Amino acid sequence: MEWFVEESNGYGLMIKVKKKLYEHKGLQYIEIYETEFGKMLVLDGRIQLIEKFESSYHEMLVHVPMLTHPKPRKVLIIGGGDGGTAREVLKHEPDEIVMVEIDRNVVDACRKFIGVDKGALKDPHLTLLIEDGIEYVRSCKEKFDVLIVDGTDPSPASKSLFSEEFYSACARISDICSMQSQSPILQKREFQLILANTSPFAKRRVYLSYIPMYPGGMWSFLLAGDNLDASIDEIKKRFEEREIETEYYTPLLHLAAFTLPKWLEKIVNEYIK
Ligand code: SAM
Repeated sequence: MEWFVEESNGYGLMIKVKKKLYEHKGLQYIEIYETEFGKMLVLDGRIQLIEKFESSYHEMLVHVPMLTHPKPRKVLIIGGGDGGTAREVLKHEPDEIVMVEIDRNVVDACRKFIGVDKGALKDPHLTLLIEDGIEYVRSCKEKFDVLIVDGTDPSPASKSLFSEEFYSACARISDICSMQSQSPILQKREFQLILANTSPFAKRRVYLSYIPMYPGGMWSFLLAGDNLDASIDEIKKRFEEREIETEYYTPLLHLAAFTLPKWLEKIVNEYIK
């Protein structure tokens, strides 16, 4: 029995592992472990998902934008190679999902060793493109109802997904966008960079989820687009009409997730007026 240790900015996460199931050094260093909390995916030394905790990430990343949109028929996912995001999007029965993932090895390894996608990666409504997300959005001529950025922490593969160029292209091709925006506690610089670079969006709102598999537990997301207004009654109505099954997300939690600690509100207000 040994420990997997992730250190970030002087803060450590330790996960007891039972067995290493896979590793591959390619575009990214991919590791998959069996742990006390189920299967765990690690990319370039950063924990991406652990089966027991992943719903608090994928459900909040997906259902907040998808239920804010009145009728999301066409969805774009950038990243999301494990398939958890696609799994949650499919619960809304969209006509079409395009998923743009840079590393085929992540998709293949997650399907083989984890299966958190629950078949989503093979769903007939989903088109999987193996491509750099920024290349795709740069030349994209289509429009999407919802665009979800499910990338890694800034890394050689993903750093382009934190650029103003990327975000302005996302704003151009989508009605509503959501993205994971790092830990505001332990990755304040990355968080502020995202707030600074997402200014091309007309409106932006930060929300939180509590994710035990990420450093510090408090994880931030950004909801962005021209119209982010949806009352709790509309969210509840859409949640019930679409018969969305969840483990973590509820409409009330959706509403509460936008209530931020005072110190965080102060940082956000420096960038979002
Ligand atoms: N839940 C994780 C998190 O927020 O820490 C992210 C999940 S998912 C594993 C991240 C995915 O983004 C990976 O599959 C990775 O290969 C993909 N990715 C990284 N850079 C990318 C890029 N430039 N274009 C498309 N996909 C990218």
